[in-house]
Amino acid sequence: MTERTQTRQTQAGTGLGFGALFSKHVISARYVAGAWSGLEVRDFEDLRFSPAAMVMHYGQAIFEGLKAFRATDSDEVLIFRAADCARRFDRSAARMAMPPLPAGMFLDAVRTLVGVDVAEVPSVPGSSLYIRPVMFADEPSLAVRPSTEFSFLVLASPVDSFFASGRTMIDAYAQSSHIRAALGGTGDVKCSGNYAGAMAAKADAQRHDCDEVLWLDAREHHYVEEFGAMNCFVVRGSGERAELITPPLAGTILPGHTRATVITLAGRRGLTVLQEPIELGQVLDDGGPVSEVFACGTAAGVAPVHRILTDTGRERIIGDQPGPLTAQLAADYVAVTHGQLEPEPDWIIR
Ligand code: PMP
Repeated sequence: MTERTQTRQTQAGTGLGFGALFSKHVISARYVAGAWSGLEVRDFEDLRFSPAAMVMHYGQAIFEGLKAFRATDSDEVLIFRAADCARRFDRSAARMAMPPLPAGMFLDAVRTLVGVDVAEVPSVPGSSLYIRPVMFADEPSLAVRPSTEFSFLVLASPVDSFFASGRTMIDAYAQSSHIRAALGGTGDVKCSGNYAGAMAAKADAQRHDCDEVLWLDAREHHYVEEFGAMNCFVVRGSGERAELITPPLAGTILPGHTRATVITLAGRRGLTVLQEPIELGQVLDDGGPVSEVFACGTAAGVAPVHRILTDTGRERIIGDQPGPLTAQLAADYVAVTHGQLEPEPDWIIR
């Protein structure tokens, strides 16, 4: 039996990595006969399932990802955009024919876990407690239909760098032989199958010495959509005339909370933010108007893009250093998540 991986000795902040160490507890609930049980606090230890548990056959599973940060100037722990995660979890559940959680249960579970494992929220700059709510089908049945039984769990992992390479700027690989999402599919929700379907593309990216996939539209492979587990922004122009652009949420892109946060933070700085399709060709054009590219998501924060490579052999070095707007928005994001910049209402639970 695997016990949770001890976190204590790594709390000095070096080499937490991402998702390899776990906090002491798990919050859980079960859905049986049309109703959810109450929440339980349990030790982090292995679970028992029937070999016929439906998730293992048909993959009916959804998850979320959010972070608790230590405030820079106080002892407070700040949980970022939990209410938005609760709403996205509900949307994912509906899309995957899974039952909604009772009102407030998602937030109760997250708060309870951070409360019991508060000692494991790391304090070194760049680190945080990553919180992972998940729901999956565990009715023992091979029938091909929605499960009638589910488990809801919330676990947590003290983390620092998202990228195994330890790089702070990312290289991304765009190719047309794999697609992530088509209209009417599940690309705009957070179901586990989206990630399973993306693993071969991620492996391709890694074979090309890239950190992430840059997903293109399913139909023409002409527009950039998002990165592996991050949304995409480009800066067009520079100085006073710079504009920030991100692809619109038209059904195939995950509506990221970091994306929404960046749009708000950029607006506060008076930047023009456009949500419109971005052509891959424009991004690759060395002499063109795209001057900066960055990825953003809860796990990685605002991650500047260093290089984009394609399966047709095209390559563009975007820059060896983060561009000025990327650096400014990355700093704003760190500041707002650590309590040093005023959040919008509803962004932070203390
Ligand atoms: N796109 C995908 C496919 C993702 O998995 C994630 C991570 N949840 C994101 C974008 C970024 O979303 P968020 O900012 O809410 O973490």
